[in-house]
Amino acid sequence: MHLARFPRIKLAHLPTPLEPMERLSKQLGGPHLWIKRDDCTGLSTGGNKTRKLEFLMGDAMRQGADTVITQGATQSNHARQTAAAAAKLGFECHILLEDRTGFATREYTQNGNVLLDHLHGAHVSKRPAGADMNAEMEAVARDLRAKGKKPYIIPGGGSNTTGALGYANCALELVAQANELNLRIDHIVQATGSTGTQAGLVAGLCAIHANIPVLGISVRAPKEKQEEAVFALAEKTAELVGAPGAVKREHIAANSDYVGQGYGIPTEGMIEAVTMLAQHEGILLDPVYTGKGMAGLIDLVRKGTFEKESNVVFLHTGGSVGLFGYPDSFT
Ligand SMILES: *Cc1c(COP(=O)(O)O)cnc(C)c1O
Repeated sequence: MHLARFPRIKLAHLPTPLEPMERLSKQLGGPHLWIKRDDCTGLSTGGNKTRKLEFLMGDAMRQGADTVITQGATQSNHARQTAAAAAKLGFECHILLEDRTGFATREYTQNGNVLLDHLHGAHVSKRPAGADMNAEMEAVARDLRAKGKKPYIIPGGGSNTTGALGYANCALELVAQANELNLRIDHIVQATGSTGTQAGLVAGLCAIHANIPVLGISVRAPKEKQEEAVFALAEKTAELVGAPGAVKREHIAANSDYVGQGYGIPTEGMIEAVTMLAQHEGILLDPVYTGKGMAGLIDLVRKGTFEKESNVVFLHTGGSVGLFGYPDSFT
């Protein structure tokens, strides 16, 4: 695996820190909990999409694009990081926001990520829940081409093989850090949505035979559907990095027990997890992804899933700006 073969534009502050969470580990009575701070990638408050955008924007540049189009839910962290990357590189940016939750408060529809989308100068437009967002992006691309623009479509969450390269890169970075710290990582736990993060991470780990299991806590899809989607992208990503066949179906694990009522809808566990991390570690999670991911990790720890002396790394994928869209959950 040699990622310098792919076009890439440096956007992220790397490596992100790998830190112990001592007070949280103590509070829960073990295992040893660590956190990989991909909330600190730097671009417009950071998050996991920045690693993907390094390769996606690299590809867009190589293709001679001058405009990017992407989509997400109203409080999309991906949309915000894409808007910031476009601003930095001088691209026009079109963002389509799907009203997936139906929340109508001013905070949800205008604050948090939405505020930053506008601040970065993106063209923001809304679509109703259930819209065919890929078809909507194609329609916008057609209009822009007719006006002489050269649009590049980035899929929701930046989750295709090009975006997933960012997390194959993260696998290399994380294992190198652990080797340096003489830290044996027994498990990685993360929130999983559009699949690119877990797919890239697993592809990277498998390509270097790291033998570290990754558990994705789903924020939307049921277990089987999520695992199949992650597997499909992980297989293609492994092939792209020159390790075809390295990812097996058994390398893909998702748990959908912490979704609650649906994508972006708060749960008790999420509120507890966000509050615990804020008050025991001084770390901000987010209401849509990492709050539910951490709720899953905390519950699995309480159920005795992990051996007391094991080392579990939570991948913090960012998103804390989304808290400002959900003030009622925390006050
Ligand atoms: C997008 C996102 C995720 C999920 O990553 P995917 O690659 O879409 O599975 C997790 N956490 C945060 C904060 C995100 O914005």
